[in-house]
Amino acid sequence: MSINREAGCSMPTDVVVVGGGFSGLLTAVEFARRGIRATVVEAADRPGGVARTVREDGYLLEPAAGTFLLPHPDLSPILHTAGIELVESPPTARRRWVFRHGAIHELRESPALALSPVLSLRAKLRTLREPWIHTPPPAQDESLLHFACRRLGPETGTLIANVMAHGVFAGDPSVMSARAAFDKMVALEDEAGSLIRGGMLRMRSRPKGTPRATARTAPEGMASVAGALAEFLGDRYRGSWPATSVRPDGDHWIVEGPETLTADSVVIALAPEAASRIVPDDLAPILTDRPTAHVAIVGLGARACDMPIPPGFGFLTGPGEPIHALGMLFESEYAANRAPQGCRMVKAIYGGDADPRIMDLTDDELVATATRELSRAIGVEVRPSYSKVVRQASGIPQYRQGHPAWLEEIYTALCRHPGLRFTGWGYRGIGVSSLATDAVRVVDETIFQPNSPIGAVA
Ligand SMILES: Cc1cc2nc3c(=O)[nH]c(=O)nc-3n(C[C@H](O)[C@H](O)[C@H](O)COP(=O)(O)OP(=O)(O)OC[C@H]3O[C@@H](n4cnc5c(N)ncnc54)[C@H](O)[C@@H]3O)c2cc1C
Repeated sequence: MSINREAGCSMPTDVVVVGGGFSGLLTAVEFARRGIRATVVEAADRPGGVARTVREDGYLLEPAAGTFLLPHPDLSPILHTAGIELVESPPTARRRWVFRHGAIHELRESPALALSPVLSLRAKLRTLREPWIHTPPPAQDESLLHFACRRLGPETGTLIANVMAHGVFAGDPSVMSARAAFDKMVALEDEAGSLIRGGMLRMRSRPKGTPRATARTAPEGMASVAGALAEFLGDRYRGSWPATSVRPDGDHWIVEGPETLTADSVVIALAPEAASRIVPDDLAPILTDRPTAHVAIVGLGARACDMPIPPGFGFLTGPGEPIHALGMLFESEYAANRAPQGCRMVKAIYGGDADPRIMDLTDDELVATATRELSRAIGVEVRPSYSKVVRQASGIPQYRQGHPAWLEEIYTALCRHPGLRFTGWGYRGIGVSSLATDAVRVVDETIFQPNSPIGAVA
């Protein structure tokens, strides 16, 4: 085993990362940043996993990750190391809407939600009283809906919980774990006893001059970002390399696939179900049958005059509304290169835990539904000349109540397998910035505690 022992910490020199989606790629680049050789093996013939980019007829559709909020303390240095620059969206990208009471309403900055017409006067007053509400969290893992209603009152809480669950996980807020899915929000209550007070404290504690994170996109799509990360890794990225098993061999790990690789540490950057097929037998049952939610992405393109969307980011749908779209993003209004000159592009999201039956519709029916619902939202009949439906084959991981206990179960099981670690969107956050934070943690743990499992508890 080739391990350099310096200054009290062991530096594993050979790490294999299984999976070349964003989590695997970011983890390998983070290893490289710390001077550790990590090789990524990826089953598919292209890097990026679910975050691929579809280009057709001059339109560019991102069926998964499309936007990063940057700068970010963990993601920015990794992108910078690989020489990746993303383009800042125009200030109008801060304009967002919520579909409520049958129409879209613009939300201004979040504290002003209390002043918005989407809420009743009673709800606004209750929301403003949030800092003085003392309701202790329940002992068991609390649902997102319960958490939001407890803090903000039933009307605002139900609205916020639904748009957060729909917008990030395509999930059902009544069964999602608030702590697992939105840990930063729950931490506000942990730290300050209130979301509003905690948010204000956090703003005040930001060092002066810290730039505000803004939406960034890749003009050539996220496939180009994944490609650049893989290119940075050079021969340490191996495509068309499906791992068939990962097993311990004394102090080493053996990764079987088209070749046999030996490593000091292995990081499995796969969704839990895919991981269950290659891990040692005792780990597999813990990783199978994790809940996921399937979504369909519908891209609509048209001449600007046939699709007069307002400049802004798009809208999310509130609870109980008469449309199926979980949300629609006005892609061409905040990201370059999404549509041919003089045209526009909207990305609508359907399905998820909130509305699984809509997935039974055919592609043509989904396009017709999206066209009708966009027309209703903006109050003008839209006439798309381009459409594309992408159904995400692997569902979005759902962090339901009990997810933190499941992470602990993994932690305990990994104690029997020193040197093996898990990362990826199935575990501790599904935004790519959360994947970067987890990449940093995986690398820290590998360097400082090479013989213990990753701190699997969120
Ligand atoms: C509709 C939608 C919108 C989203 N929007 C955003 C957004 O705007 N911003 C954002 O930050 N995030 C967004 N996300 C989330 C983001 O896309 C995901 O978190 C991220 O792409 C997941 O990366 P991953 O590496 O964890 O998993 P995956 O992408 O699933 O990667 C796993 C990889 O492992 C490979 N693999 C599987 N089995 C094996 C094997 N046996 N051997 C080798 N390789 C194997 C697969 O081929 C795959 O490439 C969105 C997601 C969706 C679905």
